[in-house]
Amino acid sequence: THFGFEEVRLAEKQERVDDVFHKVAHRYDVMNDLMSGGLHRLWKDQLAAKVNASARPGFRHLDVAGGTGDVAFRIAAKARADAKIVVLDINGDMLEVGRDRAHKRGLEEKLEFVQANAESLPLPDADFDAYTIAFGIRNVPRIELALAEAFRVLKPGGRFLCLEFSQVTLPGLDKIYDAYSFNVIPLVGKVVAGDGEPYRYLVESIRRFPKADEFEAMIRKAGFRRTAYERLTGGVVAIHSGWKP
Ligand code: SAM
Repeated sequence: THFGFEEVRLAEKQERVDDVFHKVAHRYDVMNDLMSGGLHRLWKDQLAAKVNASARPGFRHLDVAGGTGDVAFRIAAKARADAKIVVLDINGDMLEVGRDRAHKRGLEEKLEFVQANAESLPLPDADFDAYTIAFGIRNVPRIELALAEAFRVLKPGGRFLCLEFSQVTLPGLDKIYDAYSFNVIPLVGKVVAGDGEPYRYLVESIRRFPKADEFEAMIRKAGFRRTAYERLTGGVVAIHSGWKP
């Protein structure tokens, strides 16, 4: 196949992301606790609380960039016995850790693990009641494609929810956050995971991600309506949402 410069750049971005998560898969959960001081648990709780998983029998949920299953487990805990939750991730190592954890928690019945790209989901149209993506969309090279796919696989009336790092809006917190993310995060990465470079890359990707209102506009452009976002922890993260009409 012939690749243009843009395709090469995008493919390299994805390769770099894959490399990061391949390296950290087995330390991923510990690293999250260390680097966020446990806050990621509260943020994920808030995300899962917005999914009305027990609302209807046969609830179908899709968690994209689901990694080691953190978001899916929270949703599974609230869902009825007949619910189906698909955990989709591009990285087999992350999914492998997720499968082990699901097994230990006795959640295998409700969960299904699929290795695929958020930009082209191997899933039928209009099949899911809700879609979540947590700390994942920032890593996807073509965000518009991921949003278009989210729209496609949701049923009319289905809900889109995205938890992602955002812009710190609390005065004073921005300086602390900058110092923390540029110095502490790569250092913890080096000490615990043996390599600071992947974490430096992740911090950079947070800076490059669109601002909260720009991202909301992208979600609207993909076709979602009643879009909104909510900032948590002074804007360190935000939850964006929308409905498929
Ligand atoms: N959602 C999980 C959580 O919050 O703990 C995992 C988040 S982790 C920071 C990002 C995940 O995105 C990784 O597991 C990575 O493999 C996945 N990912 C990166 N690019 C992707 C893509 N194009 N399609 C699907 N998953 C992708």
